[in-house]
Amino acid sequence: MSADLSTGPAPGSLPAAQQPEWPDPAALADVERQLAALPPLVFAAECDALKERVAAAARGEAFWLQGGDCAETFAGATADAIRGKLKTLLQMAVVLTYGASVPVVKVGRIAGQFAKPRSSGMETRDGVSLPSYRGDAVNDIAFTSEARVPDPRRLLQVYNTSAATLNLLRAHTQGGFADLRQVHEWNKGFLRSGGATTRYEQMARDIDRAISFLHAVGAESETLHRVDLWTSHEQLLIEYERALTRIDSRTGTPYNTSAHFVWIGERTRQLDGAHVDLAARVRNPIGVKLGPTTSPDDALALMDKLDPHREPGRLTFIIRMGAGKIRDNLPPLVEKITASGRQVLWVCDPMHGNTIDVGGVKTRRFDDVMEEVRGFFDVHRALGTVPGGVHVELTGDDVTECIGGAGGLSEPDLKFRYETACDPRLNHQQSLELAFQVAELLAD
Ligand code: PEP
Ligand code: MN
Repeated sequence: MSADLSTGPAPGSLPAAQQPEWPDPAALADVERQLAALPPLVFAAECDALKERVAAAARGEAFWLQGGDCAETFAGATADAIRGKLKTLLQMAVVLTYGASVPVVKVGRIAGQFAKPRSSGMETRDGVSLPSYRGDAVNDIAFTSEARVPDPRRLLQVYNTSAATLNLLRAHTQGGFADLRQVHEWNKGFLRSGGATTRYEQMARDIDRAISFLHAVGAESETLHRVDLWTSHEQLLIEYERALTRIDSRTGTPYNTSAHFVWIGERTRQLDGAHVDLAARVRNPIGVKLGPTTSPDDALALMDKLDPHREPGRLTFIIRMGAGKIRDNLPPLVEKITASGRQVLWVCDPMHGNTIDVGGVKTRRFDDVMEEVRGFFDVHRALGTVPGGVHVELTGDDVTECIGGAGGLSEPDLKFRYETACDPRLNHQQSLELAFQVAELLAD
C-alpha cells in the first residue's frame, strides 16, 4: 500500500531544511546505527489507536489537547517537572471534557521535543555571533563557541531521556495520579488559591456535582482512574527520526516509534523536502503546522502527499496564524478543503503567531492567545466545520514567561522566572485559565 523506507528517493537525496551541520559524519552514522538497534519507544498499535482518536476529534466526537514545552531539556526532565506538566494537562482535560461533553485526547509535547528550528542560524550578543542553539538534541544553550558545536551523541541522550520520561508518564497515567476526583480536587485548589476569577467557580461546582453523581450511581469505571496520554514532538532531525522508524510486524509497514504523533513545522513543510517525504512514509497520525502564508493550494498539495488514501485520523493541520490574521486567513483554507470533500483535524496553535519582543525578551500576551483561539472557533462555527483542538506551549511551573491572565503578570515580572530554553510558555495558572475559557467556548 503505502511507500516504505526502501522505496522512493534515497535518504539524504532530498533537501532537508533546518538540519544541523554535524561536524563529523562518521560519528553521526555511528549514532544512527546505535539508535536503530534500540527498542521502539512507542508501539505501532498505540499509534493506530491514537489515529482513531484523531478521526473522532475531526468529526467533533472528541477534543484534542496538545501541550508541553517549546523545547524540553535534558536537565529539565526531573520527576517533579514531568509530573507538573502531566498534572497541568490532566487538570485542563477535566475542564475541557466538561465544556466539550466529549472525551479529550491528551497529547504531550513531551518525551522527545528536544530539537528546534531557528529563523536565524546565528545568534548575536554584544557584537559576538555564534551558531544558534538548536535544542538539547543538537548543541548546548550556553553562549560559547564550544557549546554551540552540534554533537550527534546528544541524539542518544534524546532517546534515553525520552524513554525515562515516557516511563514515568506511563506509570502515572495508569495509577492513582490520573484519578478523576484527584484531578478535580487540584482544580478546586487552583480556584481557592485565587488562581482565577469567580467566573470559573460555577463551572467547577458543576463538575463537582457531575463527579458526585457518577460516584453515587456507582459508575466508577476503570476509565475514571486511568487515562491515555500520548506523546508528540516536531519531526525535525531526519537522522534521528529515521533511525527510530521501524517496520510493524503486524502489517509490514513503517512507523516512527519515537512518538505516537509527530508534526512537521512551519519552516520544514516544503512539498518536495525531506520532512514531508519522511512523514509520508510512516503510518503514524501526523500533523503539519500552517502559518499565515499558507495558501489553500499548499494545504491541498500537502494532503495529497501526506494522506493520499484519505485515511480518517491520518492528518492534522495545526493552524498558527496570529490573533490578527486568523479570521482572514483561515476561512479560505477551511472552505477549499471542505469543498474538496477531504477531512482533516483542525487544531489551533495560538502561541506561535503571537510572539512579541518586549525589551529584548520574547513573550506572548495571554489576551492575544485567547483572541486567536476565539477567532479559530468563530471561523469554524461560521463555516459549520469542527474546531477540533488546541496546541499550546505550557509548563506545570510558576514561570513568568507569558504576560497577562488573571494572575496579572506584567512586563516587569518577566525577569523573575524566565526559564524556557526557547519560546515563552503558559505557566500552570495561565494554562488552567486557558482551559476554562476554551471550555466556555466549547459549551457555547
Ligand atoms: C514550535 O512548535 O515550537 C514551532 C517552532 O512552531 P512552528 O513550526 O509553528 O513555528
Ligand atoms: Mn515554540
